[in-house]
Amino acid sequence: MLPQMATLTEEQQMLRDALEGAIDRVSPVGRVQELDNAKTFDTALHAALAELGIMGIGIPEEQGGSGGGAVEQVIVLEVLGRKATSMAVFMVVHFMATRILRENGTPEQMAAHLAPLLRGETKASFCLTEASGGTDILSAMKTRARRDGDDWIINGNKMWISGASTSDMLIVLARTGEHRSRGLSMFVVPARAEGVTATEVATMAINGYDTNSLALDEVRVPGDALLGQLDNGFPQVIATLNGERMNAAAVAVGIGRGAVEVTRDYAMERTAFDRPIGQFQSVQHQLSIAGIGIESAWLMVLEAARKDDAGEATDVLSSMAKWSSARAAVHCADVGMEIFAGAGFDSDLPIQRYYRDVRLYSFAPLNQNMALNMIAERWLGFPRSF
Ligand SMILES: Cc1cc2nc3c(=O)[nH]c(=O)nc-3n(C[C@H](O)[C@H](O)[C@H](O)COP(=O)(O)OP(=O)(O)OC[C@H]3O[C@@H](n4cnc5c(N)ncnc54)[C@H](O)[C@@H]3O)c2cc1C
Repeated sequence: MLPQMATLTEEQQMLRDALEGAIDRVSPVGRVQELDNAKTFDTALHAALAELGIMGIGIPEEQGGSGGGAVEQVIVLEVLGRKATSMAVFMVVHFMATRILRENGTPEQMAAHLAPLLRGETKASFCLTEASGGTDILSAMKTRARRDGDDWIINGNKMWISGASTSDMLIVLARTGEHRSRGLSMFVVPARAEGVTATEVATMAINGYDTNSLALDEVRVPGDALLGQLDNGFPQVIATLNGERMNAAAVAVGIGRGAVEVTRDYAMERTAFDRPIGQFQSVQHQLSIAGIGIESAWLMVLEAARKDDAGEATDVLSSMAKWSSARAAVHCADVGMEIFAGAGFDSDLPIQRYYRDVRLYSFAPLNQNMALNMIAERWLGFPRSF
């Protein structure tokens, strides 16, 4: 592994080392690549992460979690981004679901839904996006929930939902009122409830974690499926977005670092004109520039996470961190493919996976333009542009 520029505490380094050790033991790079090619979720790695207590990070021990906060989450996600991208994306969703349940769940909901998630016994999906648009979700949202006695009946369609075919539980956003932003509510829906159909979408990346369209047809859930306050679902989501942005940024950093590392190793071995290609200054410079970008982004991600743990506002910094990480990571993967040249097309090597997987966090959970919009408005003081 390349030396990292940021300083971590001893405990944080131990967390990182323990996680790296577990991944290397359970899912070394060859197995990760095999499962990616077979489009298969890594259940053994999921079990190993649960065993290590990774599923409970960000939730206090007295609530059944493993403790730690935003910093520990980004450390975990950086390692996973580097070594097992699809599992990193799974963990971004998992951390979002556990945070939403912890912040909005009643004690009964936490016992029923949060506790098994923290133990790694169940999986959750977060179902917000609809086919007509993810960025302008308030205009796009057509899914509705209506009262029927004590129950709720949900109808609608979601798109690009990670894990919906393999999850046990869906956290679904649906319209319950007419107000644009104060008319949405959140529901916990069993993934096998009658009327729920998840259909896997064939995608070009994140192959080890299913991406789905989701149909909800007269899905009946009890009154206590409502998560948080009625009509307050959108503000509840917004409250978790800075965290999700930082977490996505950490995965991007991991992917970018992974790309630089495997490319450095390849450049040491591959020869042309009787010398390793890593001896050509242009190859060295390209990788140095890529590395500077990713290390700078990581410093920003860590600082945003530290501020979050200290209870400080992170909206601008987390947007900066997300934008910088996604841009730097795309650049690292691109440089990697350039230097691998023909070998970059070999689907048994990880560089092509980094090159494909890195695309996700350019537009999700917040696209790069929206991150800039946020910075322009909240940091530079410009009027809102959209
Ligand atoms: C593999 C994968 C997994 C996903 N997992 C989930 C999940 O688990 N749950 C979930 O709810 N969603 C999920 N998503 C959806 C994801 O969050 C959305 O794709 C994302 O929010 C962008 O929405 P969109 O694709 O509809 O793009 P659009 O909203 O159509 O935007 C397209 C582009 O338009 C431009 N644009 C839009 N608005 C502006 C503006 N105001 N200013 C400047 N430019 C703008 C940007 O360039 C943007 O990238 C997933 C998507 C993928 C591909």
